[in-house]
Amino acid sequence: MDFAYDDQNIFAKILRGEIPNDTVFENDHALAFRDIQPQAPVHVLVIPKGPYVSMDHFARDASAEEQAGFFAAVAAVCDSEGVEDGFRAISNTRAHGVQEVPHFHLHILGGRPMGRMLS
Ligand code: C5P
Repeated sequence: MDFAYDDQNIFAKILRGEIPNDTVFENDHALAFRDIQPQAPVHVLVIPKGPYVSMDHFARDASAEEQAGFFAAVAAVCDSEGVEDGFRAISNTRAHGVQEVPHFHLHILGGRPMGRMLS
């Protein structure tokens, strides 16, 4: 699998500060911000700061420290967003997953029942 990274993607521009975002949490390895088109009362995207195009790329090539930093950000978002009743985490990947932005991101959706969704 070739995981070539396009540094002109919109999340790379957000990480460089070229495009504004509504930051929820940040650490050395990850940024969490509100989705501009929220699909639920809570809709936060968590992204690694490194150049990873997808979850499988991140899982294969990111260091243990980067992965820990990413999941620390996920935990911080879950703590701060009031999703005690549950949430949905989604990572759309490549064409079949209908991924729009080619920088790995985890959608955290919550604040209401999500319903069944496996398609
Ligand atoms: O399909 P995919 O998971 O790649 O969707 C990208 C998400 O990034 C969309 O939910 C879109 O609303 C969000 N987005 C954003 N801020 C931007 C550009 C896209 O929150 N500046």
